Amino acid sequence: MTDLPSDVDVAVIGAGAAGIGAARRLWEAGTVSIVVLEARERVGGRVHTIAPAGFPLDRGAEWLHSADRNPLSPIAQHLGFSVHRRPPEWTTRLRRSGETVEAEDEWIALREAQRLARRRVATEAEDGPLAMVLEPGGRWNELLEATSSWANGAELDRVSIRDYVRYEDSGTNWRLREGYGRLFERLAEGLPVAQEAAVSQVDHCGDAIRLDTARGTVTASRVIVTVPTSIIACEVIRFNPPLPDKLAAAAGLPLGVDDKLFISLEGPLPDVEHDIYLVGSTTSRETMSYQVRPLDRPAIYCFFGGRFAAALEREGQEAMFSFAADELARLLGSAIRKRMAPLASTAWLQDPWSRGSYSFALPGHADDRAVLAAPVDDRVFFAGEACSPNFFSTAHGAWLSGISAAEAALASLRPAAGNR
Ligand SMILES: Cc1cc2nc3c(=O)[nH]c(=O)nc-3n(C[C@H](O)[C@H](O)[C@H](O)COP(=O)(O)OP(=O)(O)OC[C@H]3O[C@@H](n4cnc5c(N)ncnc54)[C@H](O)[C@@H]3O)c2cc1C
Repeated sequence: MTDLPSDVDVAVIGAGAAGIGAARRLWEAGTVSIVVLEARERVGGRVHTIAPAGFPLDRGAEWLHSADRNPLSPIAQHLGFSVHRRPPEWTTRLRRSGETVEAEDEWIALREAQRLARRRVATEAEDGPLAMVLEPGGRWNELLEATSSWANGAELDRVSIRDYVRYEDSGTNWRLREGYGRLFERLAEGLPVAQEAAVSQVDHCGDAIRLDTARGTVTASRVIVTVPTSIIACEVIRFNPPLPDKLAAAAGLPLGVDDKLFISLEGPLPDVEHDIYLVGSTTSRETMSYQVRPLDRPAIYCFFGGRFAAALEREGQEAMFSFAADELARLLGSAIRKRMAPLASTAWLQDPWSRGSYSFALPGHADDRAVLAAPVDDRVFFAGEACSPNFFSTAHGAWLSGISAAEAALASLRPAAGNR
């Protein structure tokens, strides 16, 4: 276990994608002493790979979104990870869910119309929720709600249109065969990460910033805070003097809820291709999406979000499995029931160091991302997925925000170099 130093130039709070990105940039600069203070007994935060059945499963981030623009794609390849480029079929194959080919075309056209309407409305003076552009009583409204719960972790009435359209998506999505979490474990190798060192207070009154952690006190000239907005908004970390603007911005950018259930699947499925994507229901927002035999593995990955996920988390893995088994039996035939067993599941809302899955902006709060990301007195810097202006809610957005904060911290230290 890394010893807790008493004094460093830069302390990074959190060893998720943003914290690892920040720490690597600082480490590579070679001019400053650093420590990463991490509450958990592992690195990666919301990127975490496990292997309960011998093959890797990503509990959090799995997809290299905007993979052709994602800086982690070339890094992963350089480190010898195998990048799987088969494009996902998210919500494009509704005929597998009992819809006709004509209905599937209608849905795809409607989805495009929604995209354009969101862009149009986002330029209006007043921000509003994504639900604003729903057609009242529309045939596909429940599926639009379900897709919002998967993409944003929240239903359409809670999500800012203006923020939503700022997200940049190149449409290319890749996976890492070894797991996204394993990549971040590799990227954290050699970094001075003090685990089980939850920070409870950042006192930035004096010349030296004082950090109270579960393992003792550290002083630092600069601090980079990379914890989720939920941790800031609930004041799990207290700032002295208080930072009310940060608290308000974090509250405007809550974490939505998305969870996964991993199911083992015995034997092949007749008439079903491998690595396909299924939508459980096209008529209820309380549904799951499924990757069947992803990367040819004997498994089904189930994904669900929003209020539905929050409720299922409370009920536990058995309830998740029972729901998924019913939907899958309806779609693939009841014989599948005997061949499935639950492998693992997540409960990101109940996780004390995440308290949710990824950030969305409440209506009227799109500009909170810039408020959250702004440094305080050029001494306390902020990073994390919620600080990203265009790649929020993703691992690469977090990584890039960490690098930006590290560069700002380095620049702020430059005039004082040699004084310490
Ligand atoms: C189910 C799910 C699926 C997802 N799918 C994708 C995907 O396919 N692609 C993608 O790009 N993104 C995906 N994401 C989002 C992605 O995982 C996150 O946006 C990203 O990992 C966030 O990184 P971060 O560094 O900002 O925060 P975190 O990963 O949360 O890191 C913050 C760290 O701070 C630590 N911490 C918290 N409180 C304290 C404290 N008081 N003191 C010290 N340390 C503390 C935490 O333990 C954590 O390690 C998914 C997330 C989930 C949950």
